[in-house]
Amino acid sequence: MLYSKMLIPTLREEPKDAEIDSHKLMLRAGLVRKSAAGLYTFLPLGFRSLLKVTRIIREEMNNAGAQELLPPFVTPADLWKESGRFDKMGKEMLRFKDRHDNEMVLGPTHEEAFTNIVRENVHSYRDLPLNLYQINTKFRDEIRPRYGIMRCREFIMKDAYSFDADEAGLEANYQAMRTAYRNIFRRCGLSVDPVLADSGSMGGSGSEEFMVPSQVGEEMIVKCNSCGYVANTERAAAYREYPESKETPEVLSETSTPSVRTIDELTAFFKTTPQKFIKTLIYIADGAPIVALIRGDMDVNEVKLKNAAGAIELELASEDKVYEITGAPVGFAGPVGIKKIRIIADISVPPMVNAITGANRKDLHLVNVNPGRDFEWEKAADIQSIREGDLCPECRKPLNAYHGIEVGHIFKLGYKYTDSMNVVFLDKDGKEKKPIMGCYGIGVGRTIASVIEQSHDENGIIWPMSIAPFHISIIPVNVSDETLMEASRKLYAALKQNYEVLMDDRDERAGVKFNDADLIGIPIRITVGKTFAAEGKFELKLRAGKDKEVLSETDLIRRIGEIYAEETAKYSGN
Ligand code: ATP
Ligand code: MG
Repeated sequence: MLYSKMLIPTLREEPKDAEIDSHKLMLRAGLVRKSAAGLYTFLPLGFRSLLKVTRIIREEMNNAGAQELLPPFVTPADLWKESGRFDKMGKEMLRFKDRHDNEMVLGPTHEEAFTNIVRENVHSYRDLPLNLYQINTKFRDEIRPRYGIMRCREFIMKDAYSFDADEAGLEANYQAMRTAYRNIFRRCGLSVDPVLADSGSMGGSGSEEFMVPSQVGEEMIVKCNSCGYVANTERAAAYREYPESKETPEVLSETSTPSVRTIDELTAFFKTTPQKFIKTLIYIADGAPIVALIRGDMDVNEVKLKNAAGAIELELASEDKVYEITGAPVGFAGPVGIKKIRIIADISVPPMVNAITGANRKDLHLVNVNPGRDFEWEKAADIQSIREGDLCPECRKPLNAYHGIEVGHIFKLGYKYTDSMNVVFLDKDGKEKKPIMGCYGIGVGRTIASVIEQSHDENGIIWPMSIAPFHISIIPVNVSDETLMEASRKLYAALKQNYEVLMDDRDERAGVKFNDADLIGIPIRITVGKTFAAEGKFELKLRAGKDKEVLSETDLIRRIGEIYAEETAKYSGN
């Protein structure tokens, strides 16, 4: 491809509204352009990389036995109503009506659509297992689109849905996807950690996210460097001991605590430690209030609480609601005397003796509160937030925390959709059964942005060969020098046979071309300039390295062959 003929609008200046490196570089290198909040165009250079990522995904998915199909991006609202998610999806799901007044949805995810395809077309155990996927547009009206294509509203996702006759089948599909995902990200040159993730009501180890460690990641991960335990903080557990207290339970009594409400204020007031307090938090779970209890030195993890309560939606109650439910302002709630409201206690609470809690009256606390004697709870569960330095649940060594970008997610769904949408097949024994499902997603654009986030320097992108828009760039330093141009054209014609080559034939200063080459980040750069004029040799430089090699045409072509073979092996499918 000739640079002069291609739309590559590189920018010298830092784009103003881009915060993170990958976003800045994708704009500056002319890979993408914003058309509106969360809506991006892939320009020709960016689109070449996008196609390469999707090609890798296809190869690995097909290898793992999955089948690609192409459903419509728009789904009828009726399917969402059947699954019960039409009202639960919230504002991320964009709804509209067609000219006949039919309600429609811009697909944010496709469980319903794929479940429906299977419901209509699969009737026997002979048709299973199935793993169906698409590489298609998604729309999510994200509350805060940001970081360019990292979190946008319209994006390309690979999403797969597996259907099996039994749990063993699901496990096999899940493991095949786990392997495929590792291969996909390795082949894209991305180093990822598969991390235990929240699996909602399914529990167990039924969900993993593929995380790219990065400062700009929105997820928090804890990892044990000793045994390798790694989990999203939404789901991570810590090892903790709850030694039996030597204290004997004392008589419950009240203490006046005017305007003392936070744990810090309370520890100062009572001259004790935060461990002495039972924090009482009021939440609204699927419309009804619930009470969460936890020891004063800990924080509630809302995802764990949501799962413990079996809720779909969970939010902290407003100040007014807290007043309505407890009869006291925020800061004075406690479990004693709370009636007809579900109480979920963290596992740290039941062993406590002579604790301090709010009294559900303004400016009043209770002391010598004893769980079991003074209040009951519906369920005790681990609802604790994890912190850096907490001990590993597997080996009891300290955990380290870091940020990560979620590029992929694999998830055992169970019977959620085949139950709600009533999908049945006839099993071997002639009985009707429901298929068990898994789902597996990869953000294609987010993968590209993460590669750039992980692989760049102050001058620009450093593409891995596997997904670089071109393999080689040729830079004739002076287009009015016919000798250089002729040599360049000849080399271009030769290399084009086996590689994707971008020849910078623009009438620009050499410095401008070098800057753009670094910014765009094509792995192999060949300069046709000084050394060609002096001794008929070309200069080869790798974008990822510093050294320059001066080579004759024959040596150059041999050297490129070596580099390409090495790189291809590194990112190969085997
Ligand atoms: P997040 O927590 O980042 O919003 P999610 O849990 O909503 O992600 P999934 O529903 O599991 O994501 O979607 C599968 C994949 O799609 C994600 O792993 C991610 O790579 C990609 N993805 C999700 N939302 C976006 C978005 N707004 N922009 C770009 N990619 C996205
Ligand atoms: Mg999301």
